Amino acid sequence: MESFNLIIGGKSVATTDCFDVINPADKSVIACCPKASVAQLDEAVAAAKAAFPSWSALTYAERRDHLMQLADAVETRADMLMTMLTKEQGKPKKGFADLGAGFELGGALAWIRATASMALEPETIQDNDLARIELHRKPLGVVGSITPWNYPLLIGIWHIIPALLTGNTVVMKPSEMTPLTVLCFGEIAKDILPAGVLNVVTGKGDIGAAMSAHVDIQKIVFTGSTPTGKAIMKSAAVTLKRLTLELGGNDAGIVLADADIEAIAGKIFATSFINNGQTCAALKRLYVHESVHDELCAALTTIAKSMKTGNGLDEDTDFGPLQNEAQLNIVKALAQDAKERGANFLCGGEVVDETGYFYPITLVNNINDGARLVDEEQFGPILPIIKFSDIEEAIASANRLSVGLGGSVWSTDIEKAQSIGSRLDCGTVWINNHAMVQPDAPFGGVKDSGFGIEFGEAGLKEFTSIQTMQVFKS
Ligand code: NDP
Repeated sequence: MESFNLIIGGKSVATTDCFDVINPADKSVIACCPKASVAQLDEAVAAAKAAFPSWSALTYAERRDHLMQLADAVETRADMLMTMLTKEQGKPKKGFADLGAGFELGGALAWIRATASMALEPETIQDNDLARIELHRKPLGVVGSITPWNYPLLIGIWHIIPALLTGNTVVMKPSEMTPLTVLCFGEIAKDILPAGVLNVVTGKGDIGAAMSAHVDIQKIVFTGSTPTGKAIMKSAAVTLKRLTLELGGNDAGIVLADADIEAIAGKIFATSFINNGQTCAALKRLYVHESVHDELCAALTTIAKSMKTGNGLDEDTDFGPLQNEAQLNIVKALAQDAKERGANFLCGGEVVDETGYFYPITLVNNINDGARLVDEEQFGPILPIIKFSDIEEAIASANRLSVGLGGSVWSTDIEKAQSIGSRLDCGTVWINNHAMVQPDAPFGGVKDSGFGIEFGEAGLKEFTSIQTMQVFKS
């Protein structure tokens, strides 16, 4: 079994304690992950704090240079990182539509390079005989990143690269379910970034809470559940930390009567089941106009039935297992509730392979708002399809939940679709697509999906504070 270490102050650091990391495809233990103590977290924060003055004093171009070198080094270890991702997360290396570990790794590289190419320049607000007023953006200090188990590397990159580029130093805490890829990434980064600029601390049960209360961490960026996001906000209040909280959602897609079903069925399938549905901005509730409902259900079922769920290390696997048993149990409970309500399962719905946390690709219709499968985030490979006749009802349904990350409208009439999309209460609206993100397009939620923006210039700004410089001329 491979051994792993924390990364603190540019060094690999062992722990006295460790915890098991499970391969979700066969429930085997793949490693004993170092379990940091709170004292080791303090050391990591101290190392990040000590590295801050010199890192923040570098120019954007100098920091960019380090980050580009980091991308190159990650690329040379791509195969090792992809295999690790498949083993601990479950996603196939290749997978359906090439959306597996290779997609995550490729996305991570693209995001590092695109984000590192950006910069926040000073702005001039006023320049006249009286005064020149300039707006400068300064880094915050030490940023704490707490990342989830669905895209361990990619979401880590989303958190740390804008933080580092803008001059902050970072302590990163990956999910205890998928810590290994990030530890490998930390080993690569420690040979490229100055000591203390990026620290990786793995733990279980007490590290996240200690980070969100830590007096020397100026900001927490968190991706995960709404209850944990609220807990972070509560403890961060004591030190007035800044926060970016990306707390998932329950995205609705609305298919209008004029949609071209043949053209959109594949995209609806892919964006609902990407990463086995374990994607914050996946399409999670599908509202379909009654005139095209049966045709779309048939098209989706044909695709679903051609999919192979299995061990992600097997070449021909389309979808792997769910990442953990708790998530599998959530999916099973939502399916059971749907069955008890008389919903119709077009495919899937029964666990057939218990060697890992497998659940088949499942489509459910004859179901309505109020069913748990519609109202609660499934975060798994099961999609409820709800028939509607009145667009006003569909819009009200899309907006009735407490979350608002994304939403989509599918139609051949783009103007109409945009008009409907503008009425959805969510951070991103896609027309004839869903779940698409890119490094220069701001992304974030409303309502219980959290706040703060990731990506693009707006995302960089979240890791800075404004200093207004007023230069009087007389
Ligand atoms: P959580 O969202 O509960 O997050 C767990 C992480 O948060 C761990 O790293 C934990 O660290 C940390 N943490 C826990 N309490 C605190 C605290 N008070 N302050 C700071 N950090 C804290 O993840 P789960 O894995 O339990 O997933 C629960 C649900 O979240 C899933 O069922 C799914 O619906 C959703 N989810 C959403 C994702 C998204 O992309 N938005 C991604 C993954 C899951 P420690 O171990 O040290 O306590």
